Amino acid sequence: MSLRKWIIIGAVALVVLAGGIPLYIQRNFKEEVVAGPGVTQVFKLSRYFSGLAGTVGDTDVFELKGEKEGGKALIIAGTHANEPSAAVVAYLLIENMKVEQGTVYIIPHFNRSGSLGAQPGGGFPLYFSIKTDWGEKKFRVGDRGLQAIDQWPDPDVFVHYPDGQLLSYIDARNTNRAWPGRPDGFLAEKITYATMEMIRKEGINVVIDLHEAEAMFPVTNCIVAPEKSKSIAIAASLFVKGKEKFENHVEPSPSSFRGLSHREIGDWSDAYPFLLESPGVHLDQITAAKTPQLIVDGKDPFVLEAAKKGLLYVPYDEQGFSIDRRVGQHSSVIQEILKQWTRKHADEPIVVSAPKYKDIVQNGLGSFYNDPSKSDKDRIYYE
Ligand SMILES: [Zn+2]
Repeated sequence: MSLRKWIIIGAVALVVLAGGIPLYIQRNFKEEVVAGPGVTQVFKLSRYFSGLAGTVGDTDVFELKGEKEGGKALIIAGTHANEPSAAVVAYLLIENMKVEQGTVYIIPHFNRSGSLGAQPGGGFPLYFSIKTDWGEKKFRVGDRGLQAIDQWPDPDVFVHYPDGQLLSYIDARNTNRAWPGRPDGFLAEKITYATMEMIRKEGINVVIDLHEAEAMFPVTNCIVAPEKSKSIAIAASLFVKGKEKFENHVEPSPSSFRGLSHREIGDWSDAYPFLLESPGVHLDQITAAKTPQLIVDGKDPFVLEAAKKGLLYVPYDEQGFSIDRRVGQHSSVIQEILKQWTRKHADEPIVVSAPKYKDIVQNGLGSFYNDPSKSDKDRIYYE
């Protein structure tokens, strides 16, 4: 072979290695979470559907069972892994939540495949960190859908099961279009099917799916709820606005748009679903470089310019929209939904306490995470 060919092969190999090695490291990077005193059990989602066992779609479920019997709630984080504050909320609750009555289940990485890789063309960083007194707590930034390496090839059109609605091909890998799922479908459908089985077998009353959305998108700073969940959502939204002084509103779940958690979970089980959105401006198309700092402080000059022109759906100024605020909002809205549920369903109460918006914004998120090096090794989970 000529020298020229060797040089070309070498150059291609360099590009592949320079691009591939960081992705390989990210796919194998583990986030650490210290199970707090409230955690009673950790198990795999495949407990409810063996077809998920041994796949990248299988994921940890943390159970926090109160001393007194009551209702049951499931909190799903990481449906879209490029909306990373959801997993940060999940870890905050796993480490700090106290359940007095009933049971809370928490899934930190629902779309685990997506959490293990970057979004092609998204320009997102691979990680971001939250400062604590004991060092930096590092998190992965993932993909919106499952990685193509885990679910491939994509269909020309994604035909929703069982409704038959035609959705974009890319939604075959979207765990918020694949509900209620099926045991012999795409991996995304197996994940949602396993979760539907869990909801039905455990008799879960409330399901909360955590997201972030663009500040330029109207469905943000809100609770999306179908008809059956509406009165609880409206009460929760009004209470957080009144008591905790942050913006929130309710969006109706459209009955003709299929595959979404806030639609299908309610239609295919007795559970009341809620989908929560908070504004993650790193998702807006117009930002400057999408840095780890942007995910943490939510400060961007172009989003600020858009705010001045009245183009945003959220209050936004030089302060940005930090992850402390986004996580604080989610934590407060979750607690208010469970409170409103309990008010209306005294026979199935879910009574919990966890840090709220004001505590988190005043003290900083970092003050709520335990130092793994000083924690009991049996209580550390690698996600
Ligand atoms: Zn989302």
